[in-house]
Amino acid sequence: MAAAAALVALAAVGAGSLLDLRTPAPRPVDAPAGEFSASRAYEDVKVIATRSHVAGSPANDQVRAHLEQQLRGLGLETEVQDTVAPEAGQLSGAAGGATLARVRNVVARLPGTDSSGRVFLVAHYDSVQTGPGGNDDAAGTSTILEVARALTTGPRPRNDIVFVLTDAEEACLCGASAFAASHPLAADGGVVLNLEARGSTGPVIMFETSRNNAKLVDVFGRAAPHPVGTSFAVEIYRALPNDTDFTAFLDQKFVGLNSAYIDGGAIYHTPLDTPASMDRGSLQQHGDNALGLAREFGRTDLTDLRSGHDATYFPVPGGLVRYPGWLTLPLALLAVAAVAALGWLTRRQGRASTGRLAAGFGLALVPIVVAPVAAQLLWLAITTIRPGYAELLDPYRPIWFRLAVLALAAAILFTWYALTRRRIGPAALAVGGLAWLALLGVLLAVAVPGGAYLTTLPALAGALGGLVALRTRQTGPWPVVAVTAAAAVGVIILLPTVVLLFPALGMGMGGVAALVAVLLGLTALPVVDLLHPQAGGQRGLLALRARRLGVLPAAAAAVAAVVLAGVGLAVDRFDAAHPAPTHLMYAMDAGTGQARWLSHEGDPQPWTDGYVDGVTDVGDDFPGLGDGELRAGPAQSANLPAPKLEVLADASSGGERTLRLRLTPQRAARLATLHVDTSTATVLRAEVAGRSVPVEPREGKWGFGLVFHAPPTEGIEVTLTLRPSAGQVSLRAMDASDGLDALPGFRPRPPAVGVVGSHSSEMLAVARTYPI
Ligand SMILES: [Zn+2]
Repeated sequence: MAAAAALVALAAVGAGSLLDLRTPAPRPVDAPAGEFSASRAYEDVKVIATRSHVAGSPANDQVRAHLEQQLRGLGLETEVQDTVAPEAGQLSGAAGGATLARVRNVVARLPGTDSSGRVFLVAHYDSVQTGPGGNDDAAGTSTILEVARALTTGPRPRNDIVFVLTDAEEACLCGASAFAASHPLAADGGVVLNLEARGSTGPVIMFETSRNNAKLVDVFGRAAPHPVGTSFAVEIYRALPNDTDFTAFLDQKFVGLNSAYIDGGAIYHTPLDTPASMDRGSLQQHGDNALGLAREFGRTDLTDLRSGHDATYFPVPGGLVRYPGWLTLPLALLAVAAVAALGWLTRRQGRASTGRLAAGFGLALVPIVVAPVAAQLLWLAITTIRPGYAELLDPYRPIWFRLAVLALAAAILFTWYALTRRRIGPAALAVGGLAWLALLGVLLAVAVPGGAYLTTLPALAGALGGLVALRTRQTGPWPVVAVTAAAAVGVIILLPTVVLLFPALGMGMGGVAALVAVLLGLTALPVVDLLHPQAGGQRGLLALRARRLGVLPAAAAAVAAVVLAGVGLAVDRFDAAHPAPTHLMYAMDAGTGQARWLSHEGDPQPWTDGYVDGVTDVGDDFPGLGDGELRAGPAQSANLPAPKLEVLADASSGGERTLRLRLTPQRAARLATLHVDTSTATVLRAEVAGRSVPVEPREGKWGFGLVFHAPPTEGIEVTLTLRPSAGQVSLRAMDASDGLDALPGFRPRPPAVGVVGSHSSEMLAVARTYPI
């Protein structure tokens, strides 16, 4: 009875914390004017994401015109910042060389009544070339339009609110970097709320903050109606190679919060990222939170938003728990002390000897290590059966595989418990498990403080619950109540973490979720133990039956893991609506007429196999594609012109040669690149469109390079100051457009074959060498 009651209580707590992560119901078009309505915002999503609208394209011009018209229609001061800007902090494009773009940001201002600073709502309106950006980032852009509308219906805020719809985020974050670095409204900095989507569904997570975030997080917890965010996510995100516009704002002038929904990652950057794919509950949550935060920051004194420290925070049913980061280490040490006290009392009461406590500690490491490894092996097996998964951020229907990983973690934990419980005893194993959580807490407090709460608080609760249970000495229901309450703390903290980690990291890193699931299981060991007969109480036939019962949950979980993985493979088949993603591009040398198909796929799928075979390094022929090995195969030559490179001026003095050049694509190009063979000349200085760019040496033949996104039709002016080491300088010009359909020899994909969500998918590059 006690066991059943405890399990029901824990299940209820778990269900409560999962329900709390649900997105709100989208509000209808006739919702009150002061509210955010996802249905109203969705009308803009449909206009913005009608088709792919990559920076510089005519489709993007149309989107921009719509945004301007909407913001002007609200009576807001609206303008377009039209400029050339470098990449924020030289991030992803650095492989090809110094990266810039021509950008056109739409900027609108709602003037405050007595402004103490500025609040910036930021989203990018451009999409990738491979998809219409129905979520990424029509979600953020349409949210900002609807928030602007709601704000203009009420009383004017105290602080200026600036709506910044950036361009060329996908290419290089260049729009955001242009705004942050050179727009007059950005000169004094302020609070940035960046809105993103990296999938199609799930809760909106506030996953990134500026440093010293305690005051910001406090406002977030108070003013966002659905505050889902954890200081652990901030730590994970810092370790991942992702960037958003928010990166461009991370300097001294700005503070802020970055939010996105991230589940349904299979469609990310693909043709399937359409308006129809969007979960409007996620859009509603984006809007509710953005509007709540804009109103709160709109009335807060913005002069003092930086605190001396980062906060630890995490979601619990009904809100956001937060405490100062400086408490992290003291709490972690307190948890260690509490677990030590529990071990001492366990021994004193004769529930476990020192030897058994030591064995319990050692053995508790087994599931902590084995479960993540097994989860990774399971995914390896699944991707061997279905290689197409390798190119996806997450499967289309990941739920079955996520459940399989959880069942596998449970099977390992239960098997371990069934094997060790009789010999070591439940008390020693429970203390051993808590000891690892407490020690991990100290490790995290030192290395990743924002994640320390994950193990510190469950360990502390578990130790206190255990101490209460031992002190009350089996009288009445109190021991069961104490261990159940302690396990509930573990469930509240770790269950949402497991659920959010899956979409955050994808199935390829499902082992991390398995690890957290095992830690959750260890905090609940005393409750799990209630299901087992008392240790050492039976002999003979009864004991045998008891042991068999102990094996039952382990066997059930193992069977469930296999069945769930099988169901996943059966249900999540590739078809026209869920195609297997493939990567292909085409590169031609206009000088020699030689052309190649290229693919990033490490192990090409059948469709891609029809184009490419061996591995090649294209760095010498197409330095604009960056480095790295690609699969390549011969292609027919197409009748495509290379970008034109004209010499506007050529002057030499004192051993330096200054070349003023114009690089002009001869077709609608998404980007153009220019590289210098540094065996023919050393580049001393470089200027693009009147802006000096850093001269950083690249590996290989083409030791200097420039990448220019959204080149204007009249071309790009480049001035190079060189020290020649040969009679002629060798320059390589390349441009790239999108879409392979018109190429000779290209066969359209069959229905169940799709396009990888990558910045180089379907790219068509033409290059030529100019000796000058
Ligand atoms: Zn994107």
